[in-house]
Amino acid sequence: MEVEETQAGRSLLANSNMSSAEVVLGFLEEAEPWRLRSSQFPSKVGGKPAWLSQKDLPSLHELECEICRLPMVFLLQVYAPISGQDRSFHRTLLLFCCKTPECYSHNDSRCMKVLRSQLPRRNEFYPYEPPPEDEPPNGTEEDHTVLSVSGFKLCWMCGCPGNKACSRCHTVTYCGKHHQTLHWKHSHKKECCSPDATVVTSSPLLFPESELVTEPEEEEDEEGKQGKDTEAEEEGSIQKSLDCPSLADTLTETDLEEMAMHETEDNKVFQHFKKKIAPEPHQVIRYSRGGSPLWVSSQHIPSDEDIPPCTCGAKRMFEFQVMPQLLNCLPVDSTGASIDWGTLAVYTCSASCSHGDQYCPEFIWKQDFSSDQHLQIKDT
Ligand SMILES: [Zn+2]
Ligand SMILES: [Zn+2]
Ligand SMILES: [Zn+2]
Ligand SMILES: [Zn+2]
Repeated sequence: MEVEETQAGRSLLANSNMSSAEVVLGFLEEAEPWRLRSSQFPSKVGGKPAWLSQKDLPSLHELECEICRLPMVFLLQVYAPISGQDRSFHRTLLLFCCKTPECYSHNDSRCMKVLRSQLPRRNEFYPYEPPPEDEPPNGTEEDHTVLSVSGFKLCWMCGCPGNKACSRCHTVTYCGKHHQTLHWKHSHKKECCSPDATVVTSSPLLFPESELVTEPEEEEDEEGKQGKDTEAEEEGSIQKSLDCPSLADTLTETDLEEMAMHETEDNKVFQHFKKKIAPEPHQVIRYSRGGSPLWVSSQHIPSDEDIPPCTCGAKRMFEFQVMPQLLNCLPVDSTGASIDWGTLAVYTCSASCSHGDQYCPEFIWKQDFSSDQHLQIKDT
């Protein structure tokens, strides 16, 4: 009954009666652009943010990297309504990250941010009824290259609030000088004031866009079934997942044996991690509100005191984690300093408190691989 109440069947919580220990896995899948617009309540990676609340968008300051102070870039969003709680009828968690490789120092989370937006079923932005399954007719829907929402001008480069217009053509807006300069050098120098300036390439700053689709994680001891899945995958017959190398692909048998030889505590955690992801090596998200994250290392695991309570006073609890496999699908430099993580664990307000139309900051914890694991994964 509660499931019917949820508007988007594509929600991560389509299976919303799950017990807290159950894990829902997220995979990347190509999708038509209209499916990833705000009105479709998407879960997605890359592209521009599909803002849920169309008012009170986060300030530039809130979207700044705490290390280099440059604007962060949208990484992904998860649509995760809470069944039976009207204030969370629509609920989206958006994750942003810095694009400066030097900001990614070991086990330092300051280059990442997560924001929560939620709305009751009856709200001023979206119809009460679920969105239609078919593509809306052209012209009535927002365009995907939208430059403004409800009066907010958005930055052409990053899709975040930006009301500073190009002083020559006055048609393109930016969040600030940094993105204006990047766009100018990239293409706007040629396009500015030209008649087809809007027939532009996509922003070079954004991560490639794809939908996040989900399925519940299978129980561990169904060996027969899992064996079958793995075979099918090797034959390439699971066509829906994008063609990204999995973490398992980059580890050889010898690597595994070597690791088994020095059975440190850290390796035990890492072995457990790999065993757990082996049946579904392309998973990029593990969602389990109130559950626990799958750590990649025994080092830098947060204690309860490390996780600050929400501004409303309620405790924060684990909600989902981003897996290192996602990095294989992002065009990030694999040599030297680059955007990197072992896993990103997101903790959110256990009450999922309402802040009106505002975007509420939540807590993210970056855990990196210990140094030898890192080598073993990055080699090959
Ligand atoms: Zn930074
Ligand atoms: Zn921008
Ligand atoms: Zn211009
Ligand atoms: Zn709260």
